[in-house]
Amino acid sequence: MATTHRPEGLPDRIRHYIDGAFVDSVGGETFDVLDPVTNETYVQAAAGQQADIDLAVAAAKRAFDEGPWSKMPPRQRSRVLHRIADLVEAQDKRLAELETFDTGLPITQALGQAQRAAENFRFFADLIVAQHDDAFKVPGRQMNYVNRKPIGVAGLITPWNTPFMLESWKLAPAIATGNTVVLKPAEFTPLSASLWAAIFEEAGLPKGVFNLVNGLGEEAGDALVKHPDVPLISFTGESRTGQIIFGNAAPFLKGLSMELGGKSPAVVFADADLESALDATVFGVFSLNGERCTAGSRILVERAIYDEFVERYAERAKNVVVGDPQDPKTEVGALVHPEHYDKVMSYVEIGKGEGRLVAGGGRPDGFPTGNYVAPTVFADVAPDARIFQEEIFGPVVAITPFDSDDEALELANNTRYGLAAYIWTNNLKRAHNFAQSVEAGMVWLNSNNVRDLRTPFGGVKASGLGHEGGYRSIDFYTDQQAVHITL
Ligand code: NAD
Repeated sequence: MATTHRPEGLPDRIRHYIDGAFVDSVGGETFDVLDPVTNETYVQAAAGQQADIDLAVAAAKRAFDEGPWSKMPPRQRSRVLHRIADLVEAQDKRLAELETFDTGLPITQALGQAQRAAENFRFFADLIVAQHDDAFKVPGRQMNYVNRKPIGVAGLITPWNTPFMLESWKLAPAIATGNTVVLKPAEFTPLSASLWAAIFEEAGLPKGVFNLVNGLGEEAGDALVKHPDVPLISFTGESRTGQIIFGNAAPFLKGLSMELGGKSPAVVFADADLESALDATVFGVFSLNGERCTAGSRILVERAIYDEFVERYAERAKNVVVGDPQDPKTEVGALVHPEHYDKVMSYVEIGKGEGRLVAGGGRPDGFPTGNYVAPTVFADVAPDARIFQEEIFGPVVAITPFDSDDEALELANNTRYGLAAYIWTNNLKRAHNFAQSVEAGMVWLNSNNVRDLRTPFGGVKASGLGHEGGYRSIDFYTDQQAVHITL
């Protein structure tokens, strides 16, 4: 398995895109980009430094201050966003092919992510024309209204899991509201981000509204966070990185949106529809290679069905198809990068001393190279285990029994994270009460992987700060000025 499908037309170099042009780093710095199946360098990408960020921010600021975009009526901006959605949709297969090549995600799942990226643009295109703001009147005395304004240059910093889709989640609301942007994508997976430039140009986005600087987090990302002309940072990534960014943004009092890590519980009560709970919890941690922020990576199961659940779960995990990411039959592909592979494998080894291994536990048979990890299941995992507490971000799950509702809740809340929770029970009252008490930004009751773009997205505790989604994203990317008039 040391070869991979190499897409046609790969770029000879991944460059920045600043003020409407592809450029190399001012100082010529580059970094290697590997494909996760061969782990060979397939391209060099420009490694942005302070000087490149300075140029990108200056272009974005000029476009904001002097260009048409920030002053354009929402309907006009909306048309551009719809064209972006059309263009993304029209090339969804190509996007998926490139994304799969760069990230190791299974091709069918990458296709779904490309379509979600288009949907994000369509959704915010619709939302900004429907946007209305408050006005308050005290008859005969005064009138007050809200004047909503774009803020300026938004710095967008994104991770390597489903990179194109997660970039769209920030780009769409940031530009829909009239801001200009500098995007710093993850260094493991820079390929798909460079496609935005042509899409935006063809859709008619004015020059300078979208700028892209590739590079390492500690260099390009750090310079963006510390740039005085970037009043907003929207960040998705690890909680530890979020803490660093929070500190670096503090002296500037920047607006921050933080979508961080997770260790989400899936709680299965004895009265649940077991078949559906098994399907959903297998999908919940093994889809997207387990490299999913909302992965249900801790499964808590009521004692009465525990043994049966573990046995049936392990059977299903063994049947998950690991394979070449470009093969449509593949359900788990190759992890993104050898560094990440080593991290996940180290947790697999730790898990062997912390739980009972019932599936996987290393490389799958027949894959001597590439970042392949067999779907791995540990049962009887105690809550103080590292594999219970720490985000692994791979196809590895911990299963733990519980005896009462109180214990289930105690276990569910027993981590520093609070992104998602999944609850499986046919007792309506229990489901709603559990949702109320569980420390999670998002709860799925007897369901999985459905989300309405109007709902809040975000976590509590170490999983994030602030919520995006629907009008909350509009609020983050705009100032709401109050105007008062005496009548
Ligand atoms: P990461 O924190 O290592 O990197 C994320 C981005 O931050 C990258 O672009 C990186 O270059 C940049 N960065 C790193 N150090 C920086 C610094 N000092 N200053 C500025 N930028 C810096 O995260 P990752 O490994 O790319 O992504 C995986 C993590 O993202 C997981 O923890 C996952 O749960 C989380 N995630 C969260 C959500 C969510 O919505 N809550 C969604 C997807 C991923």
